[in-house]
Amino acid sequence: MTHSRSSVPGRYVRQTAFAEWGPQAQGAFERSRALVVGVGGLGSWVSELLVRAGVGFLRLIDDDLVDLTNIHRQALYGPTDAAMRRPKVSAASDRLKGLNDACEIDVMHDRLDRFNINRLAGDVDVVVDGTDNFATRFLINDYCVKTRRPWVFAGVVRAEAQVMTIIPGQTACLRCVMESPPPACTDPSCREAGVLGPAVSAIASIEGLEAMKILGGRLETISPYLLRFDLWSNTMQRIRLDGPQDDPPCPCCGLGEFEYLEP
Ligand SMILES: [Zn+2]
Repeated sequence: MTHSRSSVPGRYVRQTAFAEWGPQAQGAFERSRALVVGVGGLGSWVSELLVRAGVGFLRLIDDDLVDLTNIHRQALYGPTDAAMRRPKVSAASDRLKGLNDACEIDVMHDRLDRFNINRLAGDVDVVVDGTDNFATRFLINDYCVKTRRPWVFAGVVRAEAQVMTIIPGQTACLRCVMESPPPACTDPSCREAGVLGPAVSAIASIEGLEAMKILGGRLETISPYLLRFDLWSNTMQRIRLDGPQDDPPCPCCGLGEFEYLEP
């Protein structure tokens, strides 16, 4: 733990009363470090959940400015932030520090790339996906598999969402289920296809809890599925993943080819 601030007694009692979590996981969680890549819709919600729950250290990276079109789904921001065109990481940091000053917040107004990923992710216990593009997710996947660091993938567009937890050496990785980033034409952005706030918060809740399980040391309860939801039609698909793909072997976690980290 790199900070000396202590949590307010009693603050987490409703959380530690949940027996499967308890004081032991809470203690580990308060000493843990997380990186959230992108503080748009998913990153906003996940950051707030982790900070309210008492994570020890949270780093945020995002190069975007708050816009009025963000507010319906990006819970850390308000119209004043949009009017001022504040960097998302600055507005997020102010809001999160006001929620829990026992949590150390570190922000970087930048875009994650292969040059800065080791500096930003090399000292954290989990990487949480708040990005809006598969190029960055494949970079995160390569880095996390190579350094054996857990990460949680999630994406949402329209009212459709998916989430998957990757524990290198134990679970499948993103490239086991998707060999290469989908072509841009089949990867519609929220700008073009739209997105509903409740779909974002629903999937961010699952993503946040998976991150909590990792940081609290409850790895045995990690989801072994790629979960896909359509919140509009209330349908869910659970795709069971029994460890890394081996026939043919996954280029990333099977063969150790980390092409997204290379120049
Ligand atoms: Zn793999």
